[in-house]
Amino acid sequence: MTDAVTIEGLRMPGDAIIDGVPVVSSDVFDNVTPRDGSLIGKVALCSPADVDRAVASARAAFEDGRWGDLPYNDKKAVLFRLADLIEANLDELATLESLDMGKPVADARAFDIPASVKTFRYYAEALDKVYGEVGPHHPGRISWVQHEPLGVIGCIVPWNFPLNMAAWKVAPALAMGNSVVLKPAEQSPLTAIRLGELALEAGLPAGVLNVIPGTGEMTGQALARHMDVDMIAFTGSGPVGGLLMRYAGESNLKRVSLELGGKSPQIVFADCPDMEAAAQAAAWAIFFNQGEVCTAGSRLLVQNSIKAEFLERVVAVAKTIVPGDPLDPATRFGAMVSEEQMNGVLRRIERAKADGAKLLIGGHRVREESGGFYITPTIFDGVDPSSALATEEVFGPVLGAIGFDTPEEAFKLANSTIYGLAAGVWTADVNLAHRAARRIRSGLVWINGWDACDITMPFGGFRQSGFGRDRSMHALEKYADLKAVTISFTGAA
Ligand code: NAD
Repeated sequence: MTDAVTIEGLRMPGDAIIDGVPVVSSDVFDNVTPRDGSLIGKVALCSPADVDRAVASARAAFEDGRWGDLPYNDKKAVLFRLADLIEANLDELATLESLDMGKPVADARAFDIPASVKTFRYYAEALDKVYGEVGPHHPGRISWVQHEPLGVIGCIVPWNFPLNMAAWKVAPALAMGNSVVLKPAEQSPLTAIRLGELALEAGLPAGVLNVIPGTGEMTGQALARHMDVDMIAFTGSGPVGGLLMRYAGESNLKRVSLELGGKSPQIVFADCPDMEAAAQAAAWAIFFNQGEVCTAGSRLLVQNSIKAEFLERVVAVAKTIVPGDPLDPATRFGAMVSEEQMNGVLRRIERAKADGAKLLIGGHRVREESGGFYITPTIFDGVDPSSALATEEVFGPVLGAIGFDTPEEAFKLANSTIYGLAAGVWTADVNLAHRAARRIRSGLVWINGWDACDITMPFGGFRQSGFGRDRSMHALEKYADLKAVTISFTGAA
């Protein structure tokens, strides 16, 4: 075992899981908690040779059908058992998630871990509901279309919702009969390793799910360039998404699906049906998970006639959101994932000030004495629509407000970035809501609410927010190939 450290009675997982067993890598990296900057463990730093072993194990498992060829009910039973085990270990997993990336443990308990349980249950239930097609009738032959697994799927996930992002990819990939090699983010590897352990406990055959912690540059790149990986399913930043497409082109033309960043607009029209509910939603749309959310509602577009009043309400909500120790169950806003991330967000705040935006609240580091990485919820008004704050992803708790007069102006502003992940619209006018939903170029549009959907609805972006969808039955499609089979008959029909 790698140097496991125990904190508050908790075992810190640290090994890779390759071919069904914990693997001590030749090298390790430090795992630091953003809660107080302390070292909580050492984690395997998987080398290209480790990646080779993981991919070979996944390939062998795929080729001999130890998972894919199991009867549907057996596969379902394993995925349901895995969901049950995640649920049974909810407290441990939530604590690990909170320690590892700084999110409030209350959110990990209420959201991250239950959502991961639901994801495995949803795809367990879905796996025998993927039907093929029979081709048009022809007297001399019969044709049909069947779905086949792709083979070995490399899943590369970020640190903001570590277990849930892994679940969104691993569950549908397994449901379609593939083998998986999962590379968690180096900032948050713990729950992915536990997922690998729990999958074995649930009865998933060895080699079907391998977990290889490590850096993106070394471990992630080796996986994405691997000649025997059939697909990379990725959630993360745009620049890395671009690299993955390049690696695919320079290796074996593997498929790539990309869930990338966003600069999601929240549009509040003057006829907003419930100003207080909208202000609460607008604040939490950007401050949930410290703003480290790809769908964070980072641009607040408010009709000028209500802008002053609405901003006052949002600022009032922000005042109640106080950064605190993520492990305190009362905390609703935790630490930034790392010192580097915190400093990057603080730099963007300074840039926004220099660009002339007006700081209404926040904008600085707090709780420095804890050793952790905390930033206050931050709101700017008077943001120039062409400035960095209005166009570039911050990935932190920073909201920029922009006024507009007409719906056309709002739609134009909403579509004025390179992204297209999510958007919110607040209006009592159903015709305007419908028009907005049609005009906004994004994969998700929420009317009079924020993030008011779940595993049943597809998740993903337009434009540089990526392509391919997680969640829903549509996610299954990307982990399968279509095969057309025809039987020709001899003799008269
Ligand atoms: P990131 O792109 O830096 O890292 C994501 C993953 O890619 C990590 O596992 C990392 O190790 C790996 N990686 C980095 N360089 C690599 C390389 N050269 N080759 C292969 N793998 C490599 O992103 P991040 O900072 O971890 O996450 C934040 C980003 O993720 C934000 O832009 C955010 O918007 C996005 N995000 C998107 C969604 C979505 O569903 N659209 C969800 C969450 C986060």
